[in-house]
Amino acid sequence: MIVEPERLSVLKPGPPGRGDFVLYWMQHAQRARENPALEYAASEAARLRLPLAVLFVLAPYPSATAVHYRFLLGGLAETARALEARGARFILRRGESPKVAAELSRRAALAVCDAGWTRPELAWRREFAERSACPVIRVDGDAVVPVEAASDKLEWSAFTLRRKIEGAVPAYAARIPPVVELRRDARGLDLDGGAELLRTEGGPLRPEYPGDRVPEQTALPPPGEEAARTRFDTFLNTGLDRYDADRNDPTLDGTSGMSPYLHFGQVSPVLLARKVLERGGAGAASFIEQLTVRRELSLNLVRFLPDAYDRWEGLPDWARRTLRDAAGDKRDYLYSRSDFEAARTHDPYWNAAQNQLVRSGSIHNYMRMYWGKKILEWSADPREAYGTALYLNDRYALDGRDPNGYAGVAWCFGRHDRPWAGRAVFGTVRYMNAAGLRRKFDADVYAKAWA
Ligand SMILES: Cc1cc2nc3c(=O)[nH]c(=O)nc-3n(C[C@H](O)[C@H](O)[C@H](O)COP(=O)(O)OP(=O)(O)OC[C@H]3O[C@@H](n4cnc5c(N)ncnc54)[C@H](O)[C@@H]3O)c2cc1C
Repeated sequence: MIVEPERLSVLKPGPPGRGDFVLYWMQHAQRARENPALEYAASEAARLRLPLAVLFVLAPYPSATAVHYRFLLGGLAETARALEARGARFILRRGESPKVAAELSRRAALAVCDAGWTRPELAWRREFAERSACPVIRVDGDAVVPVEAASDKLEWSAFTLRRKIEGAVPAYAARIPPVVELRRDARGLDLDGGAELLRTEGGPLRPEYPGDRVPEQTALPPPGEEAARTRFDTFLNTGLDRYDADRNDPTLDGTSGMSPYLHFGQVSPVLLARKVLERGGAGAASFIEQLTVRRELSLNLVRFLPDAYDRWEGLPDWARRTLRDAAGDKRDYLYSRSDFEAARTHDPYWNAAQNQLVRSGSIHNYMRMYWGKKILEWSADPREAYGTALYLNDRYALDGRDPNGYAGVAWCFGRHDRPWAGRAVFGTVRYMNAAGLRRKFDADVYAKAWA
């Protein structure tokens, strides 16, 4: 068994046709190692005695900026080298993903794609399956417990999902996908690889790249599989034992920093879970909780609320009702989207979080919660606040445009939470304040670091 059967879905049925190669349309799982979709495609290529062609389409994506494309291309350059060394052909094209993939499918015996659950990712796969000239199999390799095996409905909270998946995590995490040997080298294939698109690695982006420019982001992590593994090994050796104690302190580097790598599929969550479970010790259980229950709750939200996971209408009824009832309450401060974007509020902690987001492409998790709650508190209207938080997170976060981002922002507005004591502006949605930050950590040190 190359891949657990519950990771596979037939998007277009049929036996493999006659073709020059097996096509793996890589879009979400942008890595050459521990990638179940890749290994499944490789095993089909070996079985059919065909070469393997791996296609990536550089497509416009909502809210993605030049910074995101640079991170993506940096990782792909490394992935392309590893695939070519293995005897596969890596092809990079620009255009509309499903159309470009469908065009190539005319020469393929079989197509494999990976799983992605946001609206654009689902639509791309649907359109590809409709247009493809050959059968299409989807492989869900970017959740420890495959998304549709974890649950078949929208989960109410971490509590309800945890019961369903925690027992399954160790077995999924223990599985290392075998590296399949390709029987036919792809070097002879007359396919243009489009390697010149990768030459921006590390250099300035050419203006014609999709995505507009954003203010200089100077503190970004390096892209790619190797960088992800190096960073994670350091975390395992020096951070995991202190994860419980340090992870809620934004003045420390107490978390793994894996979210951008997970977002771009440059690292396998199964690999991370396996390494942590093998090492064990203090922090292991909390880390597994975040990587499986919390992350997979976000995947569940996006998978089972596809039309509304990022819309006001997608919030639970009780949360919308209470926020609407409190919409007319007096706000002590009122800011517009551009005030928030420019970190122009009265609150040094909030401004520091926004500066951290712009400069480093992320906000520490604890501050992310405060950041979202205060956008709600200081906007004229809760709907407007919801839109502002999503806009800023998707535009500036390197790990943005991710199910975790949609669930995280929705959490600030009541999703996956319960009603609390009522108060102005928030109604019964949970409230956070600066005094709470100061009780947890030295908030002034944080504010100074990102002033
Ligand atoms: C308003 C708001 C916006 C958010 N936006 C994003 C986003 O755009 N992208 C994103 O990946 N995460 C987002 N999160 C969730 C969380 O803040 C990040 O996943 C986490 O801070 C990433 O840092 P790390 O990789 O060092 O995490 P670690 O603590 O090392 O955790 C390891 C992994 O577990 C998962 N994880 C950890 N915390 C959470 C959580 N609360 N919810 C879901 N999964 C979690 C992530 O995949 C993370 O990489 C958001 C949270 C909030 C409250």
